[in-house]
Amino acid sequence: MPLIPEKDLSSTILELDAAEVKAELISKYPTKVARKRAKQIVVNEVGPDSCVPEIQSNVRTIPGIISQRGCTYAGCKGVVLGPTRDIVNITHGPIGCGFYSWLTRRNQTRATGPEDHNFMTYCFSTDMQDEQIIFGGEKKLRQAVQEAYDLFKPKAISIFSTCPVGLIGDDVHAVAREMKEKLGVNVFAFSCEGYKGVSQSAGHHIANNGIFTHVVGLDDTVKEGKFKINLLGEYNIGGDAFEIERLFEDIGVTLISTFSGNSSYDHFANSHTADLNLIMCHRSINYVAEMMETKFGIPWIKVNFIGAEATAKSLRKIADYFADPELTERVEALIAREMPAVEAVRDEVKPRCDGKTAMLFVGGSRAHHYQDIFREIGMETIAASDADIIFEQALESIQP
Ligand code: SF4
Repeated sequence: MPLIPEKDLSSTILELDAAEVKAELISKYPTKVARKRAKQIVVNEVGPDSCVPEIQSNVRTIPGIISQRGCTYAGCKGVVLGPTRDIVNITHGPIGCGFYSWLTRRNQTRATGPEDHNFMTYCFSTDMQDEQIIFGGEKKLRQAVQEAYDLFKPKAISIFSTCPVGLIGDDVHAVAREMKEKLGVNVFAFSCEGYKGVSQSAGHHIANNGIFTHVVGLDDTVKEGKFKINLLGEYNIGGDAFEIERLFEDIGVTLISTFSGNSSYDHFANSHTADLNLIMCHRSINYVAEMMETKFGIPWIKVNFIGAEATAKSLRKIADYFADPELTERVEALIAREMPAVEAVRDEVKPRCDGKTAMLFVGGSRAHHYQDIFREIGMETIAASDADIIFEQALESIQP
């Protein structure tokens, strides 16, 4: 039987003393951590001077404290390299770091056959212990790379540094170079220690720069296709990239590589042969498009495949770029074929959603992409932001 009958639940919550709840939450932490956490939980009351409480946000990741934002290591290993299926990603660190970034983003992938490996469901780690923290972990890392190679024979192995690795100073890049020479496969490392940036965002940059330096441009094979593209900043969370790929196939556009949803090592290596880069997530990857334009002369445009209207607009943008009447015709035919089903669902849900409000709790540029979808069904977004900032906006928007 529940302690509080359901009918009394809402009034009981209202009667709770917010300051007491905050004190209770903070009491679970050690003193030093509690001091920091206290600034990040505020009681939503207007002060005597009509000031709203200011919540602390946008501060550096504190190693060991899991927050709504990932650490730099999580951004590098989990977000960008996580959706790539056939690179063995070894976390050099305590097992907790590996577990923390293990498929937490629901990325999906589709291997094309038995030769196309999928290591995404594995969690490779050196499982650092006290001994490695004191005497160094390079020996154990070498063993881990060797063991991964012996067991899986991958095309490439990458190594991710965690906080302890940065603190004790293991040279992961030297180990990578040595093992690359020894094994004859591409082995590369990332200095993506969790404490390295304000948030996981620094990890995206480290990952993208590493892939650009160590992989992009290694395979010059020119694939067939009149319109060859890369899609940057689409991570196939829940399988959305599969749907986008279906549309490209339908209109006769060849997808060389996605960074990094449903991707493989070979896709990255061949990505410099594309005619055009499409940028989906502006936050995590736009500078990669600029680097590819500078080095390989590939132009880029921004797209948005979140929502049917935005998708139609983006497909027309691609057709406009290539200025090919046949491609334009195929795009228009696809839109005409697919839209009626979308409109039927929209007409059904709109009367129920009209005039309602939404608060978005998503990452990066999705915060503004999703607002369009809510607008289409008559809803107003009152706050939209990344994990930390949203609390401030939400507080302001509901202040009496
Ligand atoms: S890298 Fe650092 S901040 Fe990230 S999970 Fe590991 S210990 Fe925590």
